[in-house]
Amino acid sequence: MKNVAILGATGSVGAGTLEVIRRHPSRFRAAVLTANRRWEALDALALDLDPDLVVLGTPPPAGFAPQWAGEWRFGADALADAAGSPGSDIVLNAIVGFAGLDATLAALAAGKRLALANKESLVAGGDLVMRALRGGGGELLPVDSEHSAVHQCLAGRPVSEVARVTLTASGGPFREWPARRLATVTPADALRHPTWSMGAKITIDSATLANKALEVIEAHTLFDLPYERIEVVVHPTSIVHSLVEFRDGSSLAQLGRPSMEIPILWALGYPDRLDDARRETGFDPVRDGPLEFEPVREEDFPLFGAGVAAGKAGGEFPVAFNAANEVAVERFLSGDVGFRELAEVVLRTLERFSSRAIESVEDARRVDTRARAIARDPHGEPKSGDAE
Ligand code: NDP
Repeated sequence: MKNVAILGATGSVGAGTLEVIRRHPSRFRAAVLTANRRWEALDALALDLDPDLVVLGTPPPAGFAPQWAGEWRFGADALADAAGSPGSDIVLNAIVGFAGLDATLAALAAGKRLALANKESLVAGGDLVMRALRGGGGELLPVDSEHSAVHQCLAGRPVSEVARVTLTASGGPFREWPARRLATVTPADALRHPTWSMGAKITIDSATLANKALEVIEAHTLFDLPYERIEVVVHPTSIVHSLVEFRDGSSLAQLGRPSMEIPILWALGYPDRLDDARRETGFDPVRDGPLEFEPVREEDFPLFGAGVAAGKAGGEFPVAFNAANEVAVERFLSGDVGFRELAEVVLRTLERFSSRAIESVEDARRVDTRARAIARDPHGEPKSGDAE
């Protein structure tokens, strides 16, 4: 029996994780549940699952009166402490955004198995995360479906045998929209993902293709793969989750209908393949074919190229890209900027940063905070190189 801490339990990946855990009561138990603000939803989960601890990332709000009578803790530090505490064997980090970095580092420093959905941790904290993994002696299993596919196809083979990895992208809701129509995109349009049902932030990232740039950086960091060996192809039905081509010319792919429960189960149960096959998620060649692929429309979705370039340039750039993108998404969802301006917000922010190395989590936090300030208001911030 493994005790699992589910960080971001009230979200989309959190819900998928709880489904998987409910189907395997003799193997996994929800020991810790966390959310940010939605305490009523967290309270309902706690009543159902009776964990050892629940944590809210914010202070108790006015009117806080939970029905579950167990231990509640509050604040970002309590969240990171819960990730590193001995009460769990596996930490599944499904927090959204840079806010997940501290928990990622705490879980790895404590030598846990970290099942990581929070890709922003790897983008903003790449070297720090891999250092914590080596130092803590734990394990890092990807939950992102593309990276889970790569992990499954690699099956322990060394990266030196890999010729290239091809990450698939659905292309998002605007894959077929002509460029001029993109100016008219509303948040409601962008929140309508064709193949995946996900939280708002990653759904917008999928519409702009920023998500695929984050995933290229994630693959580079996770698998220690040079950027030249990572490619992206659009695959509208999201059946092939990614491909690995080996140096002998063989390509392996992992397939399945879009469901996060497959990569979640893999990350929780690895190296075992647990008995969980459900007809609706299995691949059926007749029903699910033909499998079509097309190139990414890089000129119409500039956040993809900008993000990959930020990853390649390294240092402050990926941290700033991630932070500016988070702010741009918030601004788009609140109606403050249009769909096309999302990229402008990010590109203008990146101009103020450099590839100076990120040595510590404090460094990463400083760049993140500064990039957010610039992305919110480019005029209210000192130029690059000025004192912060
Ligand atoms: P959701 O928005 O559905 O859920 C986010 C969860 O994180 C909620 O539980 C939320 O709590 C909590 N949270 C939000 N902000 C904070 C914070 N500042 N501190 C602590 N907790 C916070 O997101 P998703 O489940 O869609 O995505 C989670 C992560 O997984 C993201 O990094 C995403 O990129 C990645 N991912 C998601 C996939 C998907 O299918 N959804 C696929 C692959 C990767 P509250 O409810 O209180 O707001």
